[in-house]
Amino acid sequence: MNNEQIVEQFRQNLAHVNQRISAAAVRSGRTAADVQLVAVSKYVDAAMTDLLIQAGANVLGENRPQALDEKFQTINQPGVQWHLIGHLQRNKVKKVVSQAALIHSVDSVRLIDAIDKAATDQGLVAEVLLEVNVSGESAKHGFTSEEVAAALDHASALSAIKVTGLMCMGGLASSDDDVRSEFAQLRELRDRLDSDSLIHLSMGMSGDFETAIEQGATLVRVGSTLFQGVER
Ligand SMILES: *Cc1c(COP(=O)(O)O)cnc(C)c1O
Repeated sequence: MNNEQIVEQFRQNLAHVNQRISAAAVRSGRTAADVQLVAVSKYVDAAMTDLLIQAGANVLGENRPQALDEKFQTINQPGVQWHLIGHLQRNKVKKVVSQAALIHSVDSVRLIDAIDKAATDQGLVAEVLLEVNVSGESAKHGFTSEEVAAALDHASALSAIKVTGLMCMGGLASSDDDVRSEFAQLRELRDRLDSDSLIHLSMGMSGDFETAIEQGATLVRVGSTLFQGVER
């Protein structure tokens, strides 16, 4: 495939995903404008990510700080936002804070403090989501549902970090019903916290983003579906 063919394939894939987003949004009583596609580019290198951007993706998700840094430095496209969606270690916070428009995966109070400090040092306000381990599986990162309120309280006392929502991984559940119930639990948790600033629910990936939207997702993190038909 040459680059034009790849861009064309990406265009078709993006159009198809956007149609599915739109239909699911309507089913949940909303519109496509209420749901942001985060195009997860972690599977491909900077050159291929650049083609995805040329095809129209403008919010890109990376799960590793190193990859985010590399693409941030090499891809110089105006109007593109980078989101960190994967685990963040405290020693990587400094760069991420200056590069990511949104960090989806804040999973500890110590990380909240580190982000606030790095953002303060750089004169920024970092926008983040708190990752919640809704299903309680021990292998995963994230706050338990019980810990979220205290973490939010803690963050609200800091001036350089702004929590605008919650994120969950989902998808590891065995049945569609379990996935749907995890997404519903994240939404219910957000509603119980009764905070006007929690506008985002980041949930849903290639296999379950429509279910997530039906349960209230405002950000869907879609990777593999976007790369169908493209040799990589
Ligand atoms: C890879 C990844 C995704 C995208 O998953 P796909 O199944 O490829 O769509 C979403 N969220 C996170 C945190 C990821 O690491």
